[in-house]
Amino acid sequence: MAEPTLCSFLTKVLCAHGGRMFLQDLRAHVELSEGRLRAALQAAGPSRFLLQDVAEPEGPEGLPLLDSAAPEGPGGAGAACRVVAVSAARLCARYQRAECSACDQLHLCRRHMLANYPHRDCWSTCTLSHDIHTPGNIQVLKNHGIFGLNEAQLRILLLQNDPCLLPEVCLLYNKGGDPLYGYCHLKDQCNKFHVCRAFVRGECKLPNCRRSHQLVHTAALPVIEDQGLNLLSVVNFQIIATYKHQTLHQMLENQDNSASERQGMHGAGGPVSTRAAQEPAPVNPKGHP
Ligand SMILES: [Zn+2]
Ligand SMILES: [Zn+2]
Ligand SMILES: [Zn+2]
Ligand SMILES: [Zn+2]
Repeated sequence: MAEPTLCSFLTKVLCAHGGRMFLQDLRAHVELSEGRLRAALQAAGPSRFLLQDVAEPEGPEGLPLLDSAAPEGPGGAGAACRVVAVSAARLCARYQRAECSACDQLHLCRRHMLANYPHRDCWSTCTLSHDIHTPGNIQVLKNHGIFGLNEAQLRILLLQNDPCLLPEVCLLYNKGGDPLYGYCHLKDQCNKFHVCRAFVRGECKLPNCRRSHQLVHTAALPVIEDQGLNLLSVVNFQIIATYKHQTLHQMLENQDNSASERQGMHGAGGPVSTRAAQEPAPVNPKGHP
């Protein structure tokens, strides 16, 4: 199989299995040695596949471990390598408001992509496309190397990558004010997501962000369920978002270090332990580590 065909196929297999699999399980679907499969995934890079060595198989609540850089060892028998399907494909936000006729994003009804069944609001009144194979959408899927996915598989892929499919983020929570609730006066009764808005968009630059980077915690579960979201998809989103934040933060830290070397001093507050700041906590009320 040519590389793009192989990557498309591997994404399809992953998404047919919830968007994340262990390498050895994925391998059962292709006729490749583990080494060659791993090499193909690594060659495609983290914009398509995230490879992370994890200590032991985790349950559906399994949260990301850090330090994803999976050294290409001769496959330690105890450690398992997990593979997460990543994509830059997104639903077009302007299309949802009938404000875009053509662009490089998917023109699909957000409600339709959220639901596992036709949404009741889509039965009669919806004018947005529910067809992933319109000529425009076919082109977008091809551009992202995911044309072979069926609708259910594409849904899985988008749910763990596209922040627009997460529950709506509470903007009041994201303003200053109270360390736990921001300016959201609804506090625990709020039906919006109390998470860092920049984090879910992969843009949080704060090394020691006060807003929650935990999408999966006790207080968030009703919000997630309310939207009919699969918890597994949210956990996968968390894994990808945590990886992106780490990468972004490492890049900024490197810039910082070279800047402070030039200045001969560190910024106020001193260096913050990235690891402590990023370490995902287990289920934890309102997710503040
Ligand atoms: Zn568009
Ligand atoms: Zn619709
Ligand atoms: Zn709120
Ligand atoms: Zn943040």
